[in-house]
Amino acid sequence: MRFDVLTIFPALFSHYPREGVLGNALEKGLIEIHAVNIRDFTLDPHRTTDDRPYGGGEGMVMKPEPIINALESVERLERSTVVLLTPQGERFDQAMARELAGLEQIILVCGRYEGIDERVRALCIEREISIGDYVLSGGELAALVVIDAVSRLVPGVLGGERSTEEESFSDGLLEYPHYTRPREFRGLRVPEVLLSGDHARIRRWRRAESLKRTLKRRPDLLEKADLSPEDKVLLEQLRDQMQEST
Ligand code: SAM
Repeated sequence: MRFDVLTIFPALFSHYPREGVLGNALEKGLIEIHAVNIRDFTLDPHRTTDDRPYGGGEGMVMKPEPIINALESVERLERSTVVLLTPQGERFDQAMARELAGLEQIILVCGRYEGIDERVRALCIEREISIGDYVLSGGELAALVVIDAVSRLVPGVLGGERSTEEESFSDGLLEYPHYTRPREFRGLRVPEVLLSGDHARIRRWRRAESLKRTLKRRPDLLEKADLSPEDKVLLEQLRDQMQEST
């Protein structure tokens, strides 16, 4: 998987991706991240990337020529897409991350200031992605979020494929709670079932905890979740228990 990121702050991509899971993936050659400095594609001696908005108003707008020139400098692989990070885009989620992980290349355009000239959208942008309903100062953090979430789904990046299968959202539910040593910490004990060695019981407990968490924290997810008949029975019991306790 290759990521090409168009930004006026390429240095922002030289630290975060070099550590942890992404760092390993880069070292193994499973992902590549190329930060393209939009400023290198400006046409004036001052290397200007922004200008005042037509029609007046606050703030500056990113000029179209440097972004388009930068985009045209990027070699396109067969299965690729050009993404604009914008709070006006489609909301990024795990399903979208999975879909994007099926591509060979994602080209990410990071806006700054008031955003980019609308003609870049019209001419080159194939997809618009928002990482949430809030406004960041630039698209770089959003691009890193997309790179991180997509890279985890690239085969080989997490080692065992099961790691992603059981994570939150993989089947539409939040994940169950985790415990490690010591068995007791500040008076709180690890649930007995996890020490039992009974794998079937552990699996059932984890599924029940996953359903419980999702019901409490994100009931909206249950509408689309992949639920077995047993899950549905369990969910009804959990709903009854929750109603009794209120
Ligand atoms: N004036 C723009 C608007 O109201 O839609 C917001 C511009 S914002 C200050 C600057 C840049 O940050 C945007 O062009 C975009 O690239 C990025 N950005 C801000 N919030 C974002 C979000 N929630 N998701 C993705 N990108 C975001």
